[in-house]
Amino acid sequence: MSRDTVVVIKSINYSEADRIVTVFGRELGKFTLFARGIRKINSKNRGNIQTLYTSKISFYEGKGMPLLTESESVASLDIDNLDMNNAKRILFLLNKFLQEYDPYPNLFDALQRALALNLDSRSMNKLRIKFLKEMGFLNDFSSCIHCGSKKDIQYIDSKNFALVCKNCYSNSNSKPLGKDPYGSSVLTETIDNYIKRIVEEI
Ligand SMILES: [Zn+2]
Repeated sequence: MSRDTVVVIKSINYSEADRIVTVFGRELGKFTLFARGIRKINSKNRGNIQTLYTSKISFYEGKGMPLLTESESVASLDIDNLDMNNAKRILFLLNKFLQEYDPYPNLFDALQRALALNLDSRSMNKLRIKFLKEMGFLNDFSSCIHCGSKKDIQYIDSKNFALVCKNCYSNSNSKPLGKDPYGSSVLTETIDNYIKRIVEEI
């Protein structure tokens, strides 16, 4: 029997009572499980194995797809206060970019922290930047692209997806990030576009 702590990132109904579930495991990375009987009302796993829920699971690895056996909820998700649009943004990244059985424990932990904050824009954007860095799509995202300063970073160059400081601000591609840079809709939109561009290129 194998074990991991996982977040459900995708789930597809299969036949009457089963489901094929894609999870992001802390130790194993992304993988797919067969959850037999999970849609039955008396299934013990039914409540735990839901999109963006975190649980400790046991599974059997035989021939074919691993088979979910047990699950135990780890962190409760405040589903009523979860930002659904941001949840979609994070799920898209996880499903699209993670490779099977390629673990990223740091990203897993960062995801847990963002989920605890209900994926508000600030935590969601921080997570996406960390994710893009870990995946090799972003070298640095803490200093000004022109002078290298880490001070007074107040603008974003949306064309080059880079930060710009107060002193270097001049070019027309730069947009102000405002008082709450990570929480700003300008940053959200710029990252959305950057990810769209990466997806088109890969
Ligand atoms: Zn600068």
